[in-house]
Amino acid sequence: MSEKEISSAVIKRLPRYYRYLGELLRNNVDRISSQELSKKMNVTASQIRQDLNNFGGFGQQGYGYNVEYLHTEIAKILGLDQENKLIIVGAGNLGQALANYDFSKKGFRIIGIFDINEEVIGKEIGGLVVQHIDKMKEVVEENGVNMAALTVPKTAAKGIAKSLVEYGIRAFWNFASIDLQLSKEEVVVENVHLAESLMRLSYNVNKQRNKE
Ligand code: NAD
Repeated sequence: MSEKEISSAVIKRLPRYYRYLGELLRNNVDRISSQELSKKMNVTASQIRQDLNNFGGFGQQGYGYNVEYLHTEIAKILGLDQENKLIIVGAGNLGQALANYDFSKKGFRIIGIFDINEEVIGKEIGGLVVQHIDKMKEVVEENGVNMAALTVPKTAAKGIAKSLVEYGIRAFWNFASIDLQLSKEEVVVENVHLAESLMRLSYNVNKQRNKE
């Protein structure tokens, strides 16, 4: 596998390739040309070829792509061939919604959900019992948890993230509206901002309106 730095734009598109290829697999499609894939995905065929060339291509002239092979290779690039163990910190609206969603098909296993509010501690959500945050260190260390979703108020997010880094967590799925700046270089953060996505939608609706 190539050691060169892959642009974040390419990384952003990979889950979409993975999803489309998964759909093709479920529909028993064995192979697909970049043109056909491009039509389905509404991305140019040259973009697809360029993106996949970052990882060595995978296509064969006159044959196209072997769907299963490409799906497997993209899964490896995305690290989905290994199980990711996740905890959720903050069992409010968002934390509960995440816990209720089945991420296991994508290789993400939710190991625990934590909070400080006695009203939610002990409650069962998505097959997990909400635990007090005091139990978090033990659960992380005993289960080799490698990711944490932060669905706590922003005032609490940074302190919790710092503790989690000490317990060995190196990946944060951060929903709190704060930029986490964590000292360890190897820590990676994926910020999710639903409101920003809505604002982009609003921009596009507005653009349409102005055309009419
Ligand atoms: P919520 O109030 O329903 O839930 C927050 C939970 O965190 C509560 O159960 C609370 O008891 C718990 N909590 C507070 N301090 C804690 C601590 N120190 N340790 C452990 N748990 C603690 O809020 P929500 O609607 O679920 O939102 C959660 C977070 O996500 C907020 O920061 C909110 O601003 C943010 N949010 C982000 C998006 C997004 O798109 N990024 C969308 C909605 C909400």
